[in-house]
Amino acid sequence: MKISFFAASKFYQMQICKTKLELKQILEPFIREGKLIGFVPTMGALHLGHLSLIEESVKINDITISSVFVNPTQFNNSDDLDKYPSDLEKDVAMLALKGCDYVFAPNADEMYPEKDERQFYFDGIETRMEGEHRPWHFNGVAQIVSKLFAAVPATNAYFGLKDFQQLAIIKHLVKQLSLDINIVSCPTIREKDGLAMSSRNLLLKKEFRKQAPLIYSVLKEVKSKSNHESVEKIKEFVETTFGNHELLKLEYFDIVDDTMLKPIDTFSKEQTSIGCIAVWAGEVRLIDNIQINL
Ligand code: AMP
Repeated sequence: MKISFFAASKFYQMQICKTKLELKQILEPFIREGKLIGFVPTMGALHLGHLSLIEESVKINDITISSVFVNPTQFNNSDDLDKYPSDLEKDVAMLALKGCDYVFAPNADEMYPEKDERQFYFDGIETRMEGEHRPWHFNGVAQIVSKLFAAVPATNAYFGLKDFQQLAIIKHLVKQLSLDINIVSCPTIREKDGLAMSSRNLLLKKEFRKQAPLIYSVLKEVKSKSNHESVEKIKEFVETTFGNHELLKLEYFDIVDDTMLKPIDTFSKEQTSIGCIAVWAGEVRLIDNIQINL
């Protein structure tokens, strides 16, 4: 299906594909001509964070494709999956306005015609932090991303640093599958008050939304403390801050190295580290991270 519209005296056009076959037929001429293909996988309910990835792709690729698919295998809780926000019509309009050329929006049967039994291992990265608290989450991510990469032979694929651990997993996945896809890491886009943009923010009740910027304030304080305080002391500071908080509940905070995501004991000038956090704001789980260089 093709959509076209005028907005702010410009003409926008974009095609929506529902099947892998349709997508294959569309992409064939571009592949034959050696065009640069940019790919931005998403789960929809798009915000400016997602759109920043589209902007990056549009800058250097001949065509940009985005997928909108809420992947059931990466949810370890069916309630979380049911509640996940979705608005394809709005997503499509936002993508078109940013110059995205094609949207791949398959249904679950298209992506999983049969149960995916594959199990992925990433040298332990998949078991730490998010992996520990959301068992099999990254297995689901690897399943869908490998399927999407098979459907979209991208030159460049764009992922957000907001999901730092996911990005590390995807870089490993590309190596494991020997794919010739360049993974581009894009900075986290935030609300004015510092809260990292996330589709889940839509689910936050007012009182929790008001408190949620504390997450990034704490991360910024972690970064400034890293010059003169130990990892242990900084962890205590984070635990105490949230331990005393009425509404926000800390699930984990860890400081890890930026490649294998192993917890570090001491900061060093030679090693970039990342402070990673997950916090419950009522029924909504929020994650964020900050890069620490001494
Ligand atoms: P999602 O739809 O949440 O699966 O996210 C799709 C892509 O957008 C992933 O690569 C995310 O890391 C990225 N993303 C999500 N939120 C942000 C943000 N606030 N800033 C930059 N990228 C983001």
